[in-house]
Amino acid sequence: MTKPLIGIDLGGTKIEIAALAPDDGRFLLRERVATPQGGYDEVLSAMGDLVARAEATLGVQGLPVGVGIPGCISPATGVVKGANTTLLNGRALDRDLARLLHRPVRIENDANCLAVSEAVDGAGRGAHVVFAVILGTGVGAGIAIDGQAWAGAHGIAGEWGHNPAPRLADDRGVPAPHCWCGRGECIETLLSGPGFSADHLRHGGAQLEPPEIVAAAHGGDAAAQATQGRYAERLARALAQVINIIDPDVIVLGGGLSNIAWLYDEVPRRWASHVFSDVVTTPLRAAVHGDSSGVRGAAWLWRG
Ligand SMILES: [Zn+2]
Repeated sequence: MTKPLIGIDLGGTKIEIAALAPDDGRFLLRERVATPQGGYDEVLSAMGDLVARAEATLGVQGLPVGVGIPGCISPATGVVKGANTTLLNGRALDRDLARLLHRPVRIENDANCLAVSEAVDGAGRGAHVVFAVILGTGVGAGIAIDGQAWAGAHGIAGEWGHNPAPRLADDRGVPAPHCWCGRGECIETLLSGPGFSADHLRHGGAQLEPPEIVAAAHGGDAAAQATQGRYAERLARALAQVINIIDPDVIVLGGGLSNIAWLYDEVPRRWASHVFSDVVTTPLRAAVHGDSSGVRGAAWLWRG
């Protein structure tokens, strides 16, 4: 067997490390720790400790390390931008980590890691182009082409969560939400978990979590059914724009809201009328590796 591949998923609340067997992708080890809240240097040293422990357990030194992060390394400045874990912004994480670990590291946006993970051995296995979406506390997306992350000229390919959200006729007279990024009514403000709940509230519903809205809709609550319908319609329109631009072979959903089963029939049924094609056969699939896709995709950055 060739060397194991190490992936690290760096998030605001936890850091996960995993080692994958390169031939069949099985986990050789995985460990999670809470992300230190004391500052950037603490986060760096926590990552260094995780790699040292993993290599001690595996009995191999100098393994390739890939890292998935919120945001990306800006090609223009060489430092992290756009991370909601803000202590990373402005930092040369790739160079700092390379110095600490005495080896080159590869760093990618976490949604790109999801796309790579699902393209290599998940819901998009064997597909040429995979568009992978995270519907969670935020909305991110990434593109994998032949199993490799497509970062784009500015490192922002797939940042579809900050495109303008489609307005619906039902939204007339309802105040538009504003995104933390300052761009206004972004897709994230409506299709994230908090966005789903806030939309229900703005349209006169109660303060409910997304699973409670789905359960209420299932139980016949008309307001919850309407909120669910708006969510599906917005997601369908937003994904139709993606299909019209890159026409991916598969679209994969990850994140907490990807557990909503009815999306997988309802959204493709609705996007058919928004895609500029006589026939739309794009499969919409749930991520196979769930929460593990971030760390798996990071490890696969060194594949092949
Ligand atoms: Zn935004």
